Amino acid sequence: MKTVIEPFRIKSVEPIRMTTPAERERILREAGFNVFLIHADDVVIDLLTDSGTGAMSAAQWSGLMRGDESYAGSPSFYRFQERVREVFGFEHVLPTHQGRASERILFELVGGPGRLVPNNTHFDTTRANVEHSQATAVDLPIPEARQPAVEHPFKGNVDVAALEKLIEEVGTERIPLVMVTVTNNSGGGQPVSLANLRAVRAVCDRYELPLFLDACRFAENAWFIKLREPGMQDHSVQEIVREMFALADGATISAKKDGLANTGGLLLLRDETLYQQACNLLILTEGFVTYGGLAGRDLEALAQGFEEVLHEDYLAYRIQSVGYLGRQLTAAGVPIVQPPGGHAIYIDAASLCPQIPAAAFPGQAVVCDLYRRAGVRAVEIGSVMFGGHDDEAARPHHPASPRLELVRLAIPRRVYTQSHLDYVIEAAAEMADNAAALRGLRIVHEPPVLRHFTARFEECD
Ligand SMILES: *Cc1c(COP(=O)(O)O)cnc(C)c1O
Repeated sequence: MKTVIEPFRIKSVEPIRMTTPAERERILREAGFNVFLIHADDVVIDLLTDSGTGAMSAAQWSGLMRGDESYAGSPSFYRFQERVREVFGFEHVLPTHQGRASERILFELVGGPGRLVPNNTHFDTTRANVEHSQATAVDLPIPEARQPAVEHPFKGNVDVAALEKLIEEVGTERIPLVMVTVTNNSGGGQPVSLANLRAVRAVCDRYELPLFLDACRFAENAWFIKLREPGMQDHSVQEIVREMFALADGATISAKKDGLANTGGLLLLRDETLYQQACNLLILTEGFVTYGGLAGRDLEALAQGFEEVLHEDYLAYRIQSVGYLGRQLTAAGVPIVQPPGGHAIYIDAASLCPQIPAAAFPGQAVVCDLYRRAGVRAVEIGSVMFGGHDDEAARPHHPASPRLELVRLAIPRRVYTQSHLDYVIEAAAEMADNAAALRGLRIVHEPPVLRHFTARFEECD
């Protein structure tokens, strides 16, 4: 059997509102050519993000009814805690409302002026929280990560030699911890190998530095290890997850990804003192330690989600369907970041539209065309998102590499079927056939920070 089927049946459905090209043209203009400003019911297939957009299982929905809303010591918390301890092998488990809350607490405790935090690639909220503490976020991915067309089985790996060099240069006093993002979201959803994690751990041991994981997509990363890392084929995904986390002193996790839930986060810690400090900050801004800003019913959904995400049928289908989208797009002549990542496909808009300079936002032109043509909502990850006031030029430690002009198609978990993806493939193939006719955009309104959310554009002539 070649076909990998969706390993679930559909019990409850949400209608998709179909729109005509003329309607979409009007909607796009009214939104100032910014798809963040389009109402979700005007979208046919929504690939804006895989965060919090997944479908819950029948067992998770029934968990919501079981949720106990006691302020302190809810049985839902203890079920959640037991599951999390079992999956990750950490004694100290704090729930948070989402990943960035865990990051905010961690970096308030270990960040600060003059400090540096190395990572393969900081996700934008992680970078923002490091910088908010006035520390500096340093990205050290392997060189292959910067070249979209280059294939590498573990393109999310840390450049271990560059890490050692940085530590030697600045000294261990200025580095509170080393972080590794699995999978590397900003680097294309690319996995990190167990060998690379062990090599990073060895460096941390040598310099007595803690190692933390930003582990939002830990299960997808473990599945890639099982598929691609020599000698790992006979290990279960659960075993691989335990091996990954056994190397770490802590982790920040957004449960909106591999927690298979619509909201939630985790902060995992080994150090007793740091844990006590984190509890105090959690109580200050999130909530008591047995709910951390979540409802008891959310904790039930998470306890079940962290179990289901390790099912190998689910992971085989998940990674296969994202890979299917990537391979079909490649066959249709759409240039993408290779190889396909775990949660998303990234179209290389700069190479697709060489007639549009970075200043006229080739990625945004591709995003607008996909919406116009088919009602598919993607997101620009290029000069709109990273230019302007948040420009990399203002970040001296950010790697001096040319900015990539990408368009991300993020796949929500358990939401769309293969025919939905076939529809997206057709739309993108048509878009690529007509790419020479795409026009750039210029910004007519722009807020001072994070402009991609609210900027308005018009089309160049
Ligand atoms: C989503 C994400 C975060 C932040 O999590 P939120 O739940 O959105 O706050 C941090 N790191 C990575 C790698 C992510 O993908």
